[in-house]
Amino acid sequence: MRLHILGKKMSTQRRNVIKTLGVGSLAAGAAASTFPKPAISQDLREWRMVTTWPANFPGLGTGANLLGELITKMSDGRLTVRVFGAGEIVPAFESMDAVGNGTVEMGHGAPYYWQGKVNAAAYLAAIPFGLTAQEQNAWFYYGGGQELADKVYAEMGAKFFPSGNTGTQMGGWFNKEMNSLADYQGLKMRIPGLGGKVVAAAGGTVVNLPGGEIPPALQAGQIDATEWVGPYNDLAFGLYRAAKYYYYPGWHEPATVLENFINLDAWNGLPDDLKAIVETANRAVNVTVLSEFVARNNDSLSTLVNEHGVELRPFNDEILAGLGQLAGEVMSDEASADPLSREVMDSLLSFREMAKSWAGVSEQSFMTARLLPFEFAQPSGG
Ligand code: CA
Repeated sequence: MRLHILGKKMSTQRRNVIKTLGVGSLAAGAAASTFPKPAISQDLREWRMVTTWPANFPGLGTGANLLGELITKMSDGRLTVRVFGAGEIVPAFESMDAVGNGTVEMGHGAPYYWQGKVNAAAYLAAIPFGLTAQEQNAWFYYGGGQELADKVYAEMGAKFFPSGNTGTQMGGWFNKEMNSLADYQGLKMRIPGLGGKVVAAAGGTVVNLPGGEIPPALQAGQIDATEWVGPYNDLAFGLYRAAKYYYYPGWHEPATVLENFINLDAWNGLPDDLKAIVETANRAVNVTVLSEFVARNNDSLSTLVNEHGVELRPFNDEILAGLGQLAGEVMSDEASADPLSREVMDSLLSFREMAKSWAGVSEQSFMTARLLPFEFAQPSGG
């Protein structure tokens, strides 16, 4: 009954609002036809977002598209964002320069691409044996990560937002069995970033190739192994055609952060409501992209194993513990590079210690329980 009355009230209010809006837009229309460039257009912003991804690339490029759409719709067009794939305005790895120098206002990519500019940026993407996606977000939103990331990105003239996450990646595709840490000696592997430094420390030869060149290089035997992302993206690349074994887990990229970076002057020039819209749209994209990766990885892993006969192999504990030990040494060296690297690394390492304790009694313990061999309800018809 009360709801009914409330509904009536609201519809009367809405009619009034519509009336007022009608008058308002008529007036604006009249002004526009009478005067050149009405003052109202100064409140309309059109931004360009360059990305490090090929246009519409599954999960990554489509995540950037979603960010542009959300900001445009949520602001009712007061801030319109047009998205450009790698190479459309600038090459992928020049995206940060284009944003920093104001050629464009925004960019979308992954923080480790900017390690050559500011070393600490690499740690914001992922550290080997570091944090899960949820822990990574907890660090950004509640562990001081956002503030530290802003400090790192300010050195490149940009504001930072986490804007998607691939979740736990796969260990990679190998053409030989990996039975001990010694099997890395002489192994030619495509693996970027900190993970690559760990593989090099284990005696491997690390090759860096952009995504598109990986499948032919593996097929031709120019490399013995490669990592890319996980089942969803690896299936799309057809990597199962070129390698025998699919190893897990992706110790080197337990959860890779995707980023939105914004020219600092452009960001500082936004009114508070548009700032809130950009921040909220990034939070929405952050969870949406991660959810897409989880859902598609579930399906794609099944396709790889059941339709393409891919052989899944776990890295054994000797290999993982050996790589973990080397990762610790590599990261200590890396963090000594400069005070900002040290600050970011210390914050991540403290958070990781706490996260290990909680995860041990929560998700880790639950997931082990879920795999116990009891009979459970199955979907009907499944
Ligand atoms: Ca990767």
